[in-house]
Order: sequence, then C-alpha cells, then structure tokens
Amino acid sequence: MVKRNVLLNPGPATTTDTVKMAQVVPDICPREKEFVEIMRELEEGLVKIVHGDPFVYTAVLFCGSGTINMDICLNSLLPENKKVLVINNGAYSSRGVEICEYYGLAHINLKLPVDRQPDMELLERTLEENPDIALVYTTHHETGTGLLNPIREIGELVHKYNAVFVVDTTSTYAMRPINIAEDNVDFLMASAQKGIMAMTGLSFIIGRRDIIEASGSYPKRSYYCNLYMQYEYFRLHGEMHFTPPVQVIYAARQALREYFEEGEQAKWARHTRVFNAIRSGLTAMGFSIYIPENMQSGLVAAALYPDDDNWSFERVHDYCYERGFTIYPGKVENKGMFRLCALGSIDEEDIKEFFVVFREALDNCNVSLPVKYNAKP
Ligand SMILES: *Cc1c(COP(=O)(O)O)cnc(C)c1O
Repeated sequence: MVKRNVLLNPGPATTTDTVKMAQVVPDICPREKEFVEIMRELEEGLVKIVHGDPFVYTAVLFCGSGTINMDICLNSLLPENKKVLVINNGAYSSRGVEICEYYGLAHINLKLPVDRQPDMELLERTLEENPDIALVYTTHHETGTGLLNPIREIGELVHKYNAVFVVDTTSTYAMRPINIAEDNVDFLMASAQKGIMAMTGLSFIIGRRDIIEASGSYPKRSYYCNLYMQYEYFRLHGEMHFTPPVQVIYAARQALREYFEEGEQAKWARHTRVFNAIRSGLTAMGFSIYIPENMQSGLVAAALYPDDDNWSFERVHDYCYERGFTIYPGKVENKGMFRLCALGSIDEEDIKEFFVVFREALDNCNVSLPVKYNAKP
C-alpha cells in the first residue's frame, strides 16, 4: 500500500494504485517486440480518446513534460516565410509566444484579456489582414485561471482562412470530451500526468498525418524536438527515436485501460461532480471565483485571496499538505488567488473531506468565515 494523497493542484494528478504498481516490471530493452506492441497499443488508444480516425490522425510520443509538445508543434509545423498567430488570453498561450520568440518564428501575439473568451471579430479581422498566417495556436483551457476557450468556433474560422489549428489541450484531454474532427482541430496535445492519470515524463501530440508528412520539407529548427522525425521513425520502426521513459510507459498503458473501463462520459461526470463540490464548498465559505461560471472549464476553480490580514496561503497550504491534501497558487500577475482542481482519480467524498481540513486550516490561522472582500471583485 502506498499512502494516498489527494492532489488538488493542476497536475500531476492523483493516480490509482494499479497505475502506480504498473511501473514495477522486469527490466526490458525498449527495442524488444514486446515493448513495440505496448507502444502500438498506446498510440491507438491516445487517438481513440479524441475519436480520431486512425487513417487520418496519429499520436506521436515524446519524453518530456507537457511544454515539450508546445515547443515541438510550434517549431515543426510552420512552413518557410509563413507566420504563427497566437490567440493569447492566458499564461499558457503566453508561453507559446515565448517559444515563437526563442525560435525567432514570425508571429503575431494577439494578446487579449485573461478573464474572458477571445473577441471573434478581432480574430477574423486579424486572419483576413494577414494571409501569411499558416498556423494558429491557442490553449483550450487556461489552467492558470480555469478559463475555457471555444475551440470549435475558433477552429472553424481558422480553417476558413486555410490555416492549421494547433490547440494545447493538456488540461482538458481525457477529461472534457473532445472530438478532434468535429472540434475543427488539426493538432492537440497532452501529457500523461493529467487527464489519463498516469505518471510524469511522457507527452504526446495527436494530429493529422498528412500535415505531419508535408512538414517533412519545412525548415528544421530543432533536432530532438522535431515532429516529423519522431513520426517517421515510429512509422518505420514502431518505437520512439531515442530512449523512451520505459516504466512510465507501462503506467500509461495501464492508465489507458482504466480510462476505457471508466468510459468518457462517466469520467467527465465524475470530474463534474468533483468540480461542483469544489465550487459549492468555496462559495459556502464566501470565496469568490475569478472566472464567470459560463466560461469555466469545469476543472479548475481559481479563488481570490480574501481581504483578511490573517490569510496566509503558505500556512493554509502547509496545514492541508500535512493532512494529505495539496492546494496550489494562482497564475495571474498582481492578483492573489489559489486553485483547486478536479483532475485525477478523486471523487466527491475526497472534496468533502478536504473542506473539513480546509476549514480547520482557516480556523487555525484565525481567518474569519465567511471570508470577506473589501471591494466586490
Ligand atoms: C500542464 C500544462 C502544460 C504543461 O506544463 P508542464 O509544466 O510542462 O508539465 C501545458 N499547457 C497547459 C494548458 C497545461 O495545463
């Protein structure tokens, strides 16, 4: 038995014991047929999660945290003399902009307010005025705030202007149901530690085979992080080009099996139960949630710090942590907030138990309840 912690941070997520234990396997060289078979099962399962036709879409795996996917998509999928458009209303899309800067990619940073969905008219005007935009990049769910972006509508516009649509779905994949074709997405991405509830160190990009094949002739801007190179090697040899995270892959296979056992709708219903318990727990204590309800992902609640001199995130965090619950700070400049997330192998009961501890933590710090705000946020 491994001690069970309830992680309410935005990934890595709480895992099942069976996923943890799946890592304990006899040593194996990843060039063996047995391992190639596991890689094939993973590739198929990852595409199936977003209902992709396996003849049209593939999954390309990489060793790294989720940011590696962002780096790879941006550096690999831009043709020569073309531009990237980043629809930027949060910290993760800002990271996409930074990647463009680091590689010196021609790009437009469409910087928008972080507390609302993008202005579609402005987006269309930008696409109209810049016919050299070949790649549009955004984030499905800005994990820093809990804001959800309307990717289906954005994707429709992107395709109207003949650009490729790349979406960072790291914090929605295998949680909120996604249909890659119906949602007008060409490439999406995630890492094993989030929606599929496996271990850190494995990431994957799911997208159109024909576009990856065309990208073989695009400028090569990285050696290790090139999408076409990894795709082509996997197609020819059935394995990753360089050493894969072997034990993490065994855990990911187990996690995928558990995903399909639970089922897409049942899993989403469970995350929704957890999120509703988080939201009602917070509002019962007077906390204000940063993103309006109709724009929330249903996976992350960012609560504003109360105006109380006794409030201390660190003290509250430490009190909860010592009792098996992890809470996490927010990610908006100049605004104090903390996050409670509905990822992972947890359910309503865990949230009920969490709020008992969380109330104790606030009592312990002499924060008055319900919490107060000086100005209505
Ligand atoms: C977690 C996450 C990532 C990846 O972050 P890492 O720190 O590299 O794991 C990327 N995008 C989004 C939206 C995320 O939530």
